Amino acid sequence: MIRFEKVTKQYQNGEHAVNNVDLNIKDGEFFVFIGPSGCGKTTTLKMINRLIPLTTGTIYIDEKRISDYNIHELRWNIGYVLQQIALFPHMTIEENIAIVPELKKWDKDKIHQRITELLDSVGLDAESYRNRKPAELSGGEQQRVGVVRALAADPEIILMDEPFSALDPISRQKLQQDMIVLQRKIKKTIVFVTHDMQEALMLGDRICIMKDGEVVQCDTPNEILQNPANEFVQNFLESGNVNKHVLSSKFTVRDMVEQGYFDAQKVDGEADFAETIAVEVLLQQLANQTVVSVERDGKAVGLITQQHVIQFLANQLAREGEHV
Ligand code: ADP
Ligand code: MG
Repeated sequence: MIRFEKVTKQYQNGEHAVNNVDLNIKDGEFFVFIGPSGCGKTTTLKMINRLIPLTTGTIYIDEKRISDYNIHELRWNIGYVLQQIALFPHMTIEENIAIVPELKKWDKDKIHQRITELLDSVGLDAESYRNRKPAELSGGEQQRVGVVRALAADPEIILMDEPFSALDPISRQKLQQDMIVLQRKIKKTIVFVTHDMQEALMLGDRICIMKDGEVVQCDTPNEILQNPANEFVQNFLESGNVNKHVLSSKFTVRDMVEQGYFDAQKVDGEADFAETIAVEVLLQQLANQTVVSVERDGKAVGLITQQHVIQFLANQLAREGEHV
């Protein structure tokens, strides 16, 4: 879907902000860029919708070079969410969301209906929010509107640059959870930038770790946790308090099932794992097996996948962060 071929960005001062990056972001994937400040995440993201021109190399979207697209066509088909809430203050929520659909000349009824649907899908009651001004919303609510606005014209790709990092921990967690649910429904290609490892693990199908403009490791969350490519990745995980061993030995299958991190499903016979088993043991098993069945109150109640475990652990980390 989005392919980088030897992409380099050199700013006027001669610095290589992005250096020789090759990447292949798949259709419908939740793809996360992470790395320390200044490593080139924003530059990488902005090259995709041509907000920043590349110096050398090529980016393809659906196998067509981005430079071959009409710039408006390209931008209108790529939603963009920024860290700073960038709603127009003098316009209502509805008017803010309607900008790109109007540019695309959708008819009024279709826009109205789309906005109702989208606001409701992020937990904002459309009738009570559509006519308000941005200042009448909390930071978390404004950022939800930012997400809705990016989705409004039904783009195939959504770019998100640290969209939740200015929010308080509770709002941030809520939005992260909503993003997971939303993405299951819409299945867009989402390219998401963060410097928060917990957020990356919770949201990403794949995570691309960058350092000094280069890709250090690009893998699934589980692969990164199990096999960090080098010391830099290891240190980065630790600086995010992501110590898989300590964390996963602390919780059991029961914690996961109680918090709903499983697919409730009829399972024949006995479950693979009793509720007293440590999550760490589950995780080891899931390296060789895609799903395992688990029990509650002595009965097999459903299935757990690697994704459930990763999201569960990331969520525990986020909660622990709150108490610090
Ligand atoms: P990140 O988003 O990971 O923090 P950026 O992509 O914003 O990183 O920046 C990457 C590098 O490029 C940094 O060293 C930054 O100082 C530099 N940089 C970013 N924008 C410009 C610019 N407009 N002119 C010159 N250097 C820039
Ligand atoms: Mg940035």
